[in-house]
Amino acid sequence: MKRLVGTFAALILTASLQPAITAERQAQSPKPAAGAIAIVGGMLINGHGGQPIHQSVVLVENGTIKAIGTVDSLKVPAGARVINARGKTVMPGLIDMHSHSDIVGAGVYDDRFFGAAPVVPEGGWHPLSKARFKEFVGASEKHQLMAGVTMAREVGGFLDADLYIRDAINRGEIQGSRRIVSGPWINYGDPALTDKLFHTINVNTADGARAAAINLLDVHKVDLIKAYNNLTEPMVKAIVEEAHKRGKHVASHVRSHEDLVMRIAAGIDSMEHMGATTGERYTQETLDLLAESRLAVVPTLNVGLVYKETEEFPERLEDPAALALFPAEFADLIRRSARDFTNLRYFDGAKKANKGGTQARFKQLLDAGVRILMGTEAGTPLNFHSTAAAREMVWMNRLGMDALDVIVASTRAPAQFLREDQKYGSIEVGKVADIIAVDGNPLFDMAVMHQVSLVMKDGIVYKVEGAAASQSSTAASRLR
Ligand SMILES: [Zn+2]
Repeated sequence: MKRLVGTFAALILTASLQPAITAERQAQSPKPAAGAIAIVGGMLINGHGGQPIHQSVVLVENGTIKAIGTVDSLKVPAGARVINARGKTVMPGLIDMHSHSDIVGAGVYDDRFFGAAPVVPEGGWHPLSKARFKEFVGASEKHQLMAGVTMAREVGGFLDADLYIRDAINRGEIQGSRRIVSGPWINYGDPALTDKLFHTINVNTADGARAAAINLLDVHKVDLIKAYNNLTEPMVKAIVEEAHKRGKHVASHVRSHEDLVMRIAAGIDSMEHMGATTGERYTQETLDLLAESRLAVVPTLNVGLVYKETEEFPERLEDPAALALFPAEFADLIRRSARDFTNLRYFDGAKKANKGGTQARFKQLLDAGVRILMGTEAGTPLNFHSTAAAREMVWMNRLGMDALDVIVASTRAPAQFLREDQKYGSIEVGKVADIIAVDGNPLFDMAVMHQVSLVMKDGIVYKVEGAAASQSSTAASRLR
């Protein structure tokens, strides 16, 4: 913990000394450093769910994983940069299957919908963010990367922000996880209202749904489509058809068993928030359908449980690390907007869900053998990117999922879903070097996911701290 505090203090210091994330932009390079990097001595969990390798050595060169062994079997080449991972667990970078970028944990979205506290001006977070996102963009992205998330799927956001963030990260202008973005969701509603909405394209015919999907995919080059509530079967089918034609997938919300049956038949690929939201227990029929379909379910337990967590420990809102990288004005605004969180209308559903519903429904999905992937819903009120992945993983584990399964559901399984598992999601020779290390053993205590001490993405070290500080390979041999 001491180490974390030190790091957080350093982050705050960095944030205040560099008033802009822009100051860091010049220093970025999306290219991995020349020469080998060896991560030495940690317990290796490779993402496949098998037995960990103790005293491991992972050798990275030119952004890819070159060799894997143990301190006894794999020699670290002379001149390699050595990262000491002793006492730590080394694992693939996390893949967050449900995240948001243009929202950053502020307590209010839009006062028309959520009853804004007066601290957020001009009607809530969305108009503020739309007008000024470039002033704070980079903060939550970097927080998320530093928390060990090397890839994130954006499921619903303000189009300009989503695309800007994805592309700026790819260009190396801001530091963040690799992004797969949907832009706005497609919803059944009056198309005339679309211009007044922030994350929504309203359609009321199947042709309208098709045109909206084509526009997002071909003109704006989004990576997936989010099919929101209330769409009819012909609308969902049209969206799925256009997405699949282009090798893209469709994430979906669901209202009821009948809606689920319809959406599965229409060919959607993932179902968001199941298990986390309010409602009755699932029927056996629903569970059988989900298990047989092998549909990916992204429960986002944080949706319901971040409220419970904050109610029990409101001090978390004052954690300086949570918003350390934000410009002071925004960090202050976000904190003040969250202070009165028990009265936010956003949490009306969560309060109900927390009466045992979330826990029981997640367990039902688990016991039925449903394909579950980790997604954090990061960015929603109080759900800060800096801790979202660790909190989600702790909940998944605490509500009954085996620890090793939680890690697979947060690494290799999402990569498989995204059809990116040839490159990402596991620590294997030839794969892209997206690697993290945490202090201690997550198989014993999932909370160590809060203590990420090494973050490597594309073979570039973005974070290395504490005992993991690098040394030359001659020094490494002395460690043995
Ligand atoms: Zn979401």
